[in-house]
Amino acid sequence: MIQTTNPATGETIATYDTLDQNGIDARLETAGRTFRDWRATSVSRRTEVLHALGGLFESQNEELARLAVTEMGKPITQARAEVSKCADLLHHYAENGPPMLESKRWELSDGGTAEGRWLPLGPVLAVMPWNFPYWQVVRFLAPSILAGNVGLLKHASIVQGVAHKLEELVLEAGAPEGVFQNLCVSSDPIGDVIADNRIVAATLTGSEGAGSAVAAQAGKYLKKVVLELGGSDPFIVMPSADLDQAVKDAVTARIQNNGQSCICGKRTIVHADIYEDFSDRFVAALKNVKLGDPMDDDTELGPLSSEGQRDTVLDQVAKAKDEGCTLVFGGEKIDRPGAWMTAGLLTDVPLASDTGTDEIFGPVGQLYKAKDIDEATTIANAIPFGLGSAVWTTDEGEKEHFANAIEAGMTTFNAVNGSKIEAPFGGIKRSGHGRELAEFGLHEFMNLKTLVHP
Ligand code: NDP
Repeated sequence: MIQTTNPATGETIATYDTLDQNGIDARLETAGRTFRDWRATSVSRRTEVLHALGGLFESQNEELARLAVTEMGKPITQARAEVSKCADLLHHYAENGPPMLESKRWELSDGGTAEGRWLPLGPVLAVMPWNFPYWQVVRFLAPSILAGNVGLLKHASIVQGVAHKLEELVLEAGAPEGVFQNLCVSSDPIGDVIADNRIVAATLTGSEGAGSAVAAQAGKYLKKVVLELGGSDPFIVMPSADLDQAVKDAVTARIQNNGQSCICGKRTIVHADIYEDFSDRFVAALKNVKLGDPMDDDTELGPLSSEGQRDTVLDQVAKAKDEGCTLVFGGEKIDRPGAWMTAGLLTDVPLASDTGTDEIFGPVGQLYKAKDIDEATTIANAIPFGLGSAVWTTDEGEKEHFANAIEAGMTTFNAVNGSKIEAPFGGIKRSGHGRELAEFGLHEFMNLKTLVHP
């Protein structure tokens, strides 16, 4: 049994029976059988499903958003935005995806031609987290449907309501049974699922530990894997920045999704010339964040996703103090039922410490002073992760420097960094490998078959 809990109240929401071995086996069998037909469907049939599913995300936005808030506590306005983004992505792949499937041709030096044809791969396992419970799944699902693959979801235990709803929505959108199935299981049987011959590949978004376990098993059974893991993104502010906007966005970056976004500015790095000014405003703005019921439209910070997640962050704050960091304010447990804590800020973080190199998945920021562009770059790269980054500058030379020098899969200038439905997304270093979105995400789980015509 899996039990879900409302992190705003600590109350149980629902319990779900987990699949036993026979149940898992039946779903794998359905996936294999469905793939044999689905792979042969026309691209227009697949785009019909994508559009229909996008339409359901639009028409059910409020209901879906509220379900996510109830299960993992994000502010309702952000949940609505997440659901809308899913709809946008589904329509985007429906409208712009077909050309991504077109064959490529090469003239051969011996006089013939070769064709590269994109073919579906088979049933793919998606292991997904709770922090963007719709978006993380749809980012996998939309290209999977377009490719002609079928998907099996192992969603995070705490968002099983969302997981079940996603399966329902795909059926309601007109996809045959088996194109997308929820495996309601703990992580225990996942190793066996990856090993099963009916699964051809796996993708995981989540922690390094889960990523490593899934990748090790996929490696053992020689199956392709895409990993989107943690990050501790730099948010760099240089002297030419619009400080008002930079402060506002630095706060948004750190507290969005209640501080639980893999890609967001977790370490704010400010040039010495503007440090004092920025710091005063940043601290004031972070202290001012409106904490409250995640169902209220004006709430900016709700509870963490679970009491366990909250306690992990509190332990990290305690460790930070032990390591010599200064806790400027906040970062404290709020004594009420649920997974509540206040936002907080750390300074004087030693670069090589655990605090400096770990991901803090909660609303506690880190502020660094950099004497020049080189030191800002050094601090930015002094982490084992390489997911995203944001840089605030109007100087074209500085932009070019950071574009090349920051070790990350993405850099955004003068805005909060976040995934874009049209552009590739993914990380380097311990943030994972492979790409999602755009044609690169679509092609990750396809067979580029070469046809030679002498
Ligand atoms: P996990 O990485 O443990 O969970 C993500 C998914 O992986 C869930 O579906 C989980 O299932 C599953 N999982 C966990 N362990 C295994 C395993 N050994 N084999 C197969 N599947 C597994 O995240 P947590 O919820 O534990 O969060 C811990 C930390 O992970 C956070 O503090 C944060 O640093 C990071 N994280 C990063 C995210 C990102 O977007 N990059 C998202 C979420 C977390 P189940 O829920 O049943 O355990």
